[in-house]
Amino acid sequence: MQKNFVKIVLKSGKDQAVKRFHPWVFSGAIKKIYGTPAEGDLVEVYSNHDELLGIGHYQPSSISVRIVSFKKEEIAYPFWKEKIAAAWELRKMLGFANNSQTNTFRLVHAEGDGLPGLIIDFYNGTAVMQMHSAGMYLIKDELVKALKEVLGDRLKAVYDKSARTLPFKTPVQREDGFLMGEGSPEEIVNENGLLFKVNWEKGQKTGFFIDQRENRQLVQNYAANRNVLNMFCYTGGFSVYALKGGAKLVDSVDSSAQATDLTNENVALNFGTQANHRTFTADAMQFLKDTGGNYDCIILDPPAFSKHRNTLPQALTGYKRINTRAFEQINKGGVLFTFSCSQVVSKDKFREAVFTAAAIAGRNVRILHQLSQPADHPVNIFHPESEYLKGLVLYVE
Ligand code: SAH
Repeated sequence: MQKNFVKIVLKSGKDQAVKRFHPWVFSGAIKKIYGTPAEGDLVEVYSNHDELLGIGHYQPSSISVRIVSFKKEEIAYPFWKEKIAAAWELRKMLGFANNSQTNTFRLVHAEGDGLPGLIIDFYNGTAVMQMHSAGMYLIKDELVKALKEVLGDRLKAVYDKSARTLPFKTPVQREDGFLMGEGSPEEIVNENGLLFKVNWEKGQKTGFFIDQRENRQLVQNYAANRNVLNMFCYTGGFSVYALKGGAKLVDSVDSSAQATDLTNENVALNFGTQANHRTFTADAMQFLKDTGGNYDCIILDPPAFSKHRNTLPQALTGYKRINTRAFEQINKGGVLFTFSCSQVVSKDKFREAVFTAAAIAGRNVRILHQLSQPADHPVNIFHPESEYLKGLVLYVE
């Protein structure tokens, strides 16, 4: 039996976004909460004219409700299982079910799969879950059960990596660990036939940046006979593809020694120790001060410079500065791959920052490709924020 939900009524005129199926209710849109919902409870959201707009997870923060359904329906185990099954159907359609070249993909992309607050990455049998809301965290056992039923034998283990992604006040025990199966915290996975060591216990995010899969392949296409600089290399994803593509030299830079060590390991896994590859543990801005005309392909894939709207101006300055440095350094005829993964930085704002940088550096630049995230990170068209990865490939004259 479903319990009675707490009712939340929105202010007149503040219901437009939800009526257009945007799944977030901001605290400023709320007129009245009837009752005292606990963090993570399901609540019903109504307009000021008493129309039911949706049902979602309550969170006492600026995003107060993450809507999971826009109609009156029972939200219980069958509902969650159906969502997980739909996410898997899409990945099957995309060719991830029996793919000998790639056994790593995103299985659930939060709002993009109708499951706000939930990320699940699949690493050759291990599903690594990241919950970003108390609501999703509280139903984690149901989610594991659904994963087991939907994926069957394909699923060997489920690892919870939410300790650091849950809202910091959420009163739950925060410990990462296996929710199903036991095993090693790391595995060597395949991506487009290349090998990568992924460690979900110690790694950033769920262990690997799966979202750059197709963009890495594009780097491979451009790398032949070029000197490539992979800035912010982390696992060395772009470096491995550049070497595969026949780069003359690849330099990988990251401020974290753990990252440059991992890059070395991944290069060795694929090409042995003789590869024309070097790593530098260094700060990006320092390294890019004077590269001595060494590079004719530069990749800039920095961490999100802004996680909140109020730090947007600083983020844009950050993108402008780092791209200016790259434009100043890259050789004539060079190709710059530049990315932003900040959700709050729009495609237009990012472009503006990059073009300003080109102007400051006095370089003539043409756009060759406009990049985003791959189809296993689908974009909910009613939630433009789910399109978070933006990239430009620029030909620099
Ligand atoms: N391109 C990577 C993902 C990059 S994640 C991939 O394809 O997997 C961002 C990386 O930037 C992290 O590894 C982090 O250690 C590094 N980083 C953060 N600040 C930095 C700085 N100031 N200089 C150099 N690297 C930095």
